[in-house]
Amino acid sequence: MLRCYFRRILLQSSSRDQGTRKDLLTGFPSALLGGHRSASSLPDVRERTLIAVKPDGVQRRLVGQIIQRFEQRGFKLVGLKMLQASEDLLSQHYSELRAKPFYPRLLKYMSSGPVVVMVWEGHKVVQTSRVMVGHTNPAEASAGTVRGDFSFHVSRNVVHASDSLEGAQREIQLWFKGKELLNWDSCDQNNTFAV
Ligand code: UDP
Ligand code: MG
Repeated sequence: MLRCYFRRILLQSSSRDQGTRKDLLTGFPSALLGGHRSASSLPDVRERTLIAVKPDGVQRRLVGQIIQRFEQRGFKLVGLKMLQASEDLLSQHYSELRAKPFYPRLLKYMSSGPVVVMVWEGHKVVQTSRVMVGHTNPAEASAGTVRGDFSFHVSRNVVHASDSLEGAQREIQLWFKGKELLNWDSCDQNNTFAV
């Protein structure tokens, strides 16, 4: 509790009140600050991926349940927005699939209504979120995965997850401006991983 309080002080202090922040912390032993480490000293737990609830997931009111699964797993939400994606954005997002027969239908489906796009952060989040999302074809997705629990056909598989570190980086840059992503320290950090 105390740790969270002091972390909040650190986070709330902006560059405008650097002096105040210094004053607040002066005299407190570092142990009381929760052994705070800067995020940059923990690069592997700062891996990020792009997850999107597709138009069918939004229409079916599945946004909350999908977010809950990632929160429950312990990942950290660092970006979130709702938008109706343009064909231009989607053609960049799915550029590798341009030659596939289902590509025109895919773009029509993905631009048919709002999507909720998120960036989640954490240790091996790219790989883990692919497992959580399940097989591309819901008919082959295991129960317990998002696609395995909420869908049955590949044309309406509810959610997108980046499939590699490079893909995640490219997709995050495509969907989010840098200032739309927030770096923040979670108060349960010492209970979700240790280094
Ligand atoms: N898709 C489709 N028919 C197919 C294969 C894929 O409609 O036979 C759609 C589906 O929505 C899928 C998306 O195209 O999620 C992107 O395909 P990809 O192979 O990248 O699968 P994902 O990475 O989404 O699992
Ligand atoms: Mg893919």
